[in-house]
Amino acid sequence: MKSYFIGVFKNTSDFETNHGIIKLTSVKLQSPNDPSDFPFVGARENEGHIAIVSGFFQNNTLFECELIEISPSWISEILVQMLKSGNTSWDVLIEQLTKSRDIVIGPKPLTDPNTTAKPLCALVVGHRQSQKGARMLLNNVFEFDFNSEIAEAVKQKVKKANVKIVFRDDTSNGYTRLPAKINALQPKFIVSLHFNASGNSRANGTEMLYYHSSKKGYKMALIMQRHVLEALGLRNRFTKKVKVTERGGHLLKYTAAPCIITEPFFGTNSHDEQTAIAKKQDLIKAYASGIDEIVTALF
Ligand SMILES: [Zn+2]
Repeated sequence: MKSYFIGVFKNTSDFETNHGIIKLTSVKLQSPNDPSDFPFVGARENEGHIAIVSGFFQNNTLFECELIEISPSWISEILVQMLKSGNTSWDVLIEQLTKSRDIVIGPKPLTDPNTTAKPLCALVVGHRQSQKGARMLLNNVFEFDFNSEIAEAVKQKVKKANVKIVFRDDTSNGYTRLPAKINALQPKFIVSLHFNASGNSRANGTEMLYYHSSKKGYKMALIMQRHVLEALGLRNRFTKKVKVTERGGHLLKYTAAPCIITEPFFGTNSHDEQTAIAKKQDLIKAYASGIDEIVTALF
């Protein structure tokens, strides 16, 4: 079973925790390689930072080490000082870590999802009722309202997946807790609906976002990009890989199933906007056929 540790990076392979110093390695648990020959690369540039790592723990070594979270330098410094001065303790941090993990990504599911039914697609409407996201310049329509309507119509048209529409809670922590809300449904894949905006009214075109290390996310993005390009005929901005600190990164990283974020057009570009309004039905069909093809190709 995977273990989670919170601690401080000491150098490339040493990690200081409440159990003392443990070794980190990218080597697989049953590998014939010597773990000390393959120290965990993610630690190298992060000496002094507080981090959460996971992996398989044996012989004081964390095998197949993965970086779950790293705290920025100032916050790391604050925590290290608090630990030194006795204003907090590793026990307190560990207790909080467990709570925070459950809030953000949810507890581990107890049952296996039903595998005989059609795969479940979580169709996530971006933003929320009282923070509606970007606004179309000419038609005054917000992302949240536009995509709420689109999601309902897409749900009716999809044939190969069961679609569950998901809204984030209409509270200031609604986005932080969105991955846990989605993970609780145990979907096979996730499509989150947005549209783009820029201070530069000339910015235009279609793009899909996916998590940089997700192979299935990348394939889903390619499929959906092709369908939406055909439907709207706007400029191809291609698929974009996203890291946790970039836009959408929190959702893309902490959802358990592969996930994409759609940015079919710019609401701040008049040609894009007019095209999207005129071809709304084509966009709906593109999303539905994209989801169907994702099921056929990947699930
Ligand atoms: Zn958005």
